[in-house]
Amino acid sequence: MGMKSDIELIKDGKRLDGRGVNDLRPITIKAGVLERADGSCYVEWGGNKVLAAVYGPQECLPKHIASPHRAVLTYRYNMAPFSVEDRKRPGPDRRSIEISKISKEALERVVLLEKFPNTMIKVFVEILQADAGTRCAALTAASVALADAGIPMRDLVTACAAGKIGGEIVLDLGKKEDNFGEADVPVAILPHTKEIVLMQMDGQLTPEEYRKALDLSIDGCTKVYELQKKALRERYVEGVD
Ligand code: UDP
Repeated sequence: MGMKSDIELIKDGKRLDGRGVNDLRPITIKAGVLERADGSCYVEWGGNKVLAAVYGPQECLPKHIASPHRAVLTYRYNMAPFSVEDRKRPGPDRRSIEISKISKEALERVVLLEKFPNTMIKVFVEILQADAGTRCAALTAASVALADAGIPMRDLVTACAAGKIGGEIVLDLGKKEDNFGEADVPVAILPHTKEIVLMQMDGQLTPEEYRKALDLSIDGCTKVYELQKKALRERYVEGVD
């Protein structure tokens, strides 16, 4: 973010990949793609390829982290070594630990954890290919996987980023836009109440620009939500067990 470059990120209202300022990248969502997990989801979002798997509610291990009041939710965001241009060193790093923490906190706002005391619900997200916006794609996939597992929730969590490139506020930054743009604002909401459950900012924006980016990312979330519902509906129509 904010690297100096001669690349013109936006020209006559068109972006590098031909998108307009308010356009999402192409997104496909499929629920129920893994047989061994209780729930799963595969998302392609532009160049991002993301797989989410959910287990539980199941016995809480280690036992000392169990709660008699609610299920313990865990979230692991992991990038495959081959997911990025320079090989990603396997294992957790500061960035993936941070993303896992805030994504877990977002999901804790929707999962009815109090229904399953003394258990745990585990969410794993594997980034198979990364092209900017992976935390949003991951959280979007994770909430569909939770629904696919039949875990009761108040709502889905839907995520999408907006940002600033070439002086303009745009939706859903791609890799070059993320690298050479001015700001990136990932947001996750509960689509019914528009409650914000994740909000971050990389780069700099004025308060007015920030408001505009926030509104735009919420618009993006609304579109992503339709695709999440479609994926879950298709899962039942297909009647996979
Ligand atoms: N990235 C990378 N190596 C890393 C982490 C990130 O190449 O170790 C790339 C990857 O394409 C990622 C992008 O940088 O999608 C933007 O990363 P950021 O931390 O902004 O998170 P994201 O936008 O993916 O949620």
